[in-house]
Amino acid sequence: RPGASPLAFDNSYARLPDRFFARLAPTPVSEPRLLRVNHGLAERLGTNAAALSTAAGVAMLAGNRVPSGAEPLAMAYAGHQFGQYNPQLGDGRALLLGEVVGTDGVRYDIQLKGSGRTPFSRMGDGRSALGPVIREYIVSEAMAALGVPTTRALAMVATGDRVLRQDGPEPGGVMTRVARGHVRIGTFEFFRNQGDLDALRRLADYVIDRHYPDVTSAERPYLALLDAVVAAQADLVAAWLAVGFIHGVMNTDNCGIAGETIDYGPCAFMDRYHPETVYSSIDLGGRYAFNRQPQIAQWNLARFAECLLPLIADDPQDAIPDAEAALSRFAARFDAAHIGSLRAKLGLATAEDDDHTLALDLLATMADNRADFTLTFRRLSDLDGADPGPAGDAPVRALFDDPEAFDAWAARWRARLGRETRDDRARQAAMRATNPAFIPRNHRIQQAIDAAYDGHMGVIDDLMAVLSRPYDDQPAFAAYAEPPQPHEVVQQTFC
Ligand code: AMP
Ligand code: MG
Ligand code: MG
Repeated sequence: RPGASPLAFDNSYARLPDRFFARLAPTPVSEPRLLRVNHGLAERLGTNAAALSTAAGVAMLAGNRVPSGAEPLAMAYAGHQFGQYNPQLGDGRALLLGEVVGTDGVRYDIQLKGSGRTPFSRMGDGRSALGPVIREYIVSEAMAALGVPTTRALAMVATGDRVLRQDGPEPGGVMTRVARGHVRIGTFEFFRNQGDLDALRRLADYVIDRHYPDVTSAERPYLALLDAVVAAQADLVAAWLAVGFIHGVMNTDNCGIAGETIDYGPCAFMDRYHPETVYSSIDLGGRYAFNRQPQIAQWNLARFAECLLPLIADDPQDAIPDAEAALSRFAARFDAAHIGSLRAKLGLATAEDDDHTLALDLLATMADNRADFTLTFRRLSDLDGADPGPAGDAPVRALFDDPEAFDAWAARWRARLGRETRDDRARQAAMRATNPAFIPRNHRIQQAIDAAYDGHMGVIDDLMAVLSRPYDDQPAFAAYAEPPQPHEVVQQTFC
């Protein structure tokens, strides 16, 4: 029986036709224990941490009770996984409880992850281990603080049940995820594959209404939708590259239509810069390596465009030239965003043609010299515009295997700064506002998970407090800015 709800649900996806989802309740867990709840996000959703921490609140967050107004459902979708089409994926361990219109006027999905088996679970157990829940909680909130579009983490619950994973049994967890939407490219592919034109149109109209209302006034709204999603993905991937983020599983079912980072699995932030960095244990071919992300986004968008063809023109063939033109705009949009962020990272307020080359040459030097991505740009922010000599540049030089490799580049950078009008102080402040000091480093996340498994949640709290202000110098927490010691390096991340 539904219980009183700490959230004022107002559902729209559940109004779509039955073939869009499977309705079912979450599977209860043995001994739910609320580990953490996100105070600020709770308030944005019109509730508060206290209301979510009551018995009724925890029961909802654990999936043990369906609150009034919720209409739990598993979304149906398909997707290309590592380039291979899978016609039947869907929420196998997640349920959309419903939606809440936030105090900011935005409609948010409230989703439980790890809430039990669904008709889409295939061979899976429908559950999540606590480790990945903690990882997503930390990383998605850090991404939000960095200013990268992302799903958010509202709460995490320990289930009291064990789940079996590659290294044996682990404690289970349920995470409450909040998103602008969970429709993915794979949702469109699901209906396209079935030749269900009516569903495709319903889905596109839903997405336009919810995420891209401006395109309704376009002459060809479905083509304008493609343009809007292309732009959102280009901006998103540029934002990832600016902070050294590697998604890890950019399958089309993990590519959100609303332009948010979705599905935190074996994702990671780079420590040492190398363009081909891969952390994901399942990405054996490096398909989703750091520097391949723009290409992959484009590939995914091509799959999206194929789904929209029959909506753009009565004869899909007729839509191809316009769809291709829309896809080709990805490059310009991405380049503008990417070069813009590189310029900002170098402290350049004006634009010159050679700026991109200057940035690429720094990156190449960093790769050759195994320099830490985040620290190089953060420490670069503090350098003087006038050449202070090797001693003055020591904090950055020390990050390069061969410090002299940095000197040659720094001379070019300073020559370029000489053509800027902004003074050093303003330039340094702007650079510090764009080059974070603190990112969720893999070894810190691992330490937080290990401590939580030992019953200590304080490590997560400390880490998250630091990560909530990534652009502020926090001298008392300087150690959190440091790369891992050799014995702390995390080589691989897992789903
Ligand atoms: P992902 O790699 O997280 O995007 O998941 C791919 C597909 O596998 C999705 O349909 C998930 O719902 C499903 N899946 C992943 N883990 C599980 C699990 N433990 N139980 C059931 N389904 C799962
Ligand atoms: Mg997924
Ligand atoms: Mg996943």
